[in-house]
Amino acid sequence: MELSSFISDEFRLNDSQKKALKKLHLKTMEDLLYYFPVRYGDVASVKHIRDVKAGDHAALYGTLTGLSTSKGFKSKISMAKGSLKDDTGSIELVWFHQPYLAKMLTEGSLVKAEGKVSEKNGKLYMTNAETEVVPNVPLAVGNSIFGSEDNHFAYPVYAESRGITSKWFYHGVQKIFKAGLHEKIEDPIPEDILKKYNLPTLKSALVWIHGPKKESDSVAARKRFAFEEIFLIQIEKHQERLAHEKYPSFIIEKEDREVDAFIKRFPFKATKAQERAIKDILSDFKDNHAMSRLLEGDVGSGKTAVAAATVFAVTTTRPENKDFGNLQTAYMAPTEILAEQHFESFIKYFAYLGIQIGLLTGSGAKKFPSKLNPTKGTDISRAQLLKWVENGEIPILVGTHALIQKEVKFKNLAYIVIDEQHRFGTRQRAKLRQKEDTLLPHLLSMTATPIPRTLALTIYGDLDLTLLDEMPAGRKPIITKIVLPNKRQETYDQIRIELQAGRQAYVICPRIEEPDPTKENALNVKSVTEEAKRLKQDIFPEYEIGVLHGKLRPHEKDKAMLEFKAGKTQIMVATSVIEVGVNVPNATSIIIEGAERFGLAQLHQLRGRVIRSEHQAYCYVYTDTQSEKTIDRLKALVTAKNGFELAEFDLAQRGAGELRGNKQWGISDLGMEAIKNIKMVEAARKESEAIIKSDPTLQSHPLIKQKLEKQEQKVHFE
Ligand code: ADP
Ligand code: MG
Repeated sequence: MELSSFISDEFRLNDSQKKALKKLHLKTMEDLLYYFPVRYGDVASVKHIRDVKAGDHAALYGTLTGLSTSKGFKSKISMAKGSLKDDTGSIELVWFHQPYLAKMLTEGSLVKAEGKVSEKNGKLYMTNAETEVVPNVPLAVGNSIFGSEDNHFAYPVYAESRGITSKWFYHGVQKIFKAGLHEKIEDPIPEDILKKYNLPTLKSALVWIHGPKKESDSVAARKRFAFEEIFLIQIEKHQERLAHEKYPSFIIEKEDREVDAFIKRFPFKATKAQERAIKDILSDFKDNHAMSRLLEGDVGSGKTAVAAATVFAVTTTRPENKDFGNLQTAYMAPTEILAEQHFESFIKYFAYLGIQIGLLTGSGAKKFPSKLNPTKGTDISRAQLLKWVENGEIPILVGTHALIQKEVKFKNLAYIVIDEQHRFGTRQRAKLRQKEDTLLPHLLSMTATPIPRTLALTIYGDLDLTLLDEMPAGRKPIITKIVLPNKRQETYDQIRIELQAGRQAYVICPRIEEPDPTKENALNVKSVTEEAKRLKQDIFPEYEIGVLHGKLRPHEKDKAMLEFKAGKTQIMVATSVIEVGVNVPNATSIIIEGAERFGLAQLHQLRGRVIRSEHQAYCYVYTDTQSEKTIDRLKALVTAKNGFELAEFDLAQRGAGELRGNKQWGISDLGMEAIKNIKMVEAARKESEAIIKSDPTLQSHPLIKQKLEKQEQKVHFE
């Protein structure tokens, strides 16, 4: 057996196990060794029913029978009950406020119930136990999976997937240890760094993370791997940065007064933050190295205007040693709707200069102005547009992903603006840049996702950061209300008043598909289609209701959006797909269902959909959770001053796994733990920078190089 051996060659796997491993991207024994436990179960708390006493926090396995629901006679509190039985005895389980639990659990099923044991009139019972249906009773009950209970403080719990259990992973990993494979991997982190930060070696960390003997072992091991992940990301970022700095770029020297004159034409007064951001960018332009800057500003903070002012500076500059033509800008947005929106704003900003603007999306091409239509964009052929872009006649090209296709060639591409940057992979960003080989264009990335500073340092380590931390004057602060179940009807009444006044509303559901019924709270999650039907039937029969979710085809999405924009539908029921960029100023109310399932930053982003006009906006954050902690977390939405404050709060409050770092930024749950620790991120940054400075090609750090190459390959094959 080698680290590179296939799991399927070393284990007898059934089909569902094969499928599960594939889904988890686990192919080799090494992959398996790097599949870390998500937590450690406390062996001591798994008990036989006979052994529990009042006050214990225990996990019990048994068969559930006698399920019933009722309502308290006076209190009207709904209640579910059942009896849990194992070989040694039985105990009553009682749930308050969670009648749906009785529906989720079936009579006679084998469950794990975890919670606090109480006593009343000499009888033991467990209240509001967390219950989960299990396929069988684990070995750990009564006798520890480690043989002797004193040896280990806990047993590892691995994330399961349909078809594969935590126990399977446990045995798989143990097999690797027995064969001594973990001793063959060389540590990519230099020894002096490990020593300096008191981190365990790779070998120790692997043993400790899978089978800690004491809690501090697992903490140290997790810390090490978290550091390693952030360290490696930063090495890559520093390399990228260095590569950019090597290339010369376009020098754009624009007189301040010219740009000021352009800004004066705005139909509003620029905020101080906008002025600062424009200044930052113009000063980068004067350098002969390519700018790499991230403009981070809350929804509605006016990023487009900043971009426009800087595009102005580029567009009105001639290519070097030429007395005709203009430097060109590529302006990329993640959706067609957004690209159209920017094309139209740019026509307003630039029409007076008499320059040409193009629009290129997956579904067509447009140009402004034309003889046919001097005030609006005109449809033209793609080929024609591409020709004009290539010969430099069109200095500003707005578009979607379509801009990074091979056929799109610029004559003098000097500036790339990427809107809603977080929607694009970093690789796509690189693609646009690489097209020019002589001079590297300047890059401005824009994002409204307020993220904590540690995360920004990590994932945008190759970029300089400018914050737009000020909202345009005169915006009415949005009214945010946390809505608990007894206020639901009242909320609908308030929204009806807005609808009657001609406004529109969003209703956001957490998920589209019927979720896995065994998951907690799953029954509270409504699918978009069902919710739309229910609203039409029971609540708002007099209004037209549209739906929008990720499973719709692009043209269906566009249609739904356009109908809502045009006011043909008054209510839009959607998943969080509406999160990005969409601007329907007449929509002033938003209900977010199942709010406890969203992160605060995401809720804030969703709320941003309705702060787009001078009308008063309302955000109703609905939750039926009983957890005070969750409600407190949601209350931060009412009190926090801005998205950045919320993002920091979110990071501090939620478990790393809940932050979905993996999905959005390619950072594992473990790596996200590092993000919570500014000292660790700064250390990783410092050390990686030092390495790249002294050894840019990693020649004397071959293990780091190898590790990065391996990761790259993995991303490629997935
Ligand atoms: P975002 O930063 O979310 O991309 P936009 O650039 O779309 O925000 O701007 C949101 C709205 O605010 C637009 O209608 C824009 O014209 C307007 N706006 C931008 N800057 C200002 C300002 N300084 N004062 C008033 N309104 C502004
Ligand atoms: Mg925007």
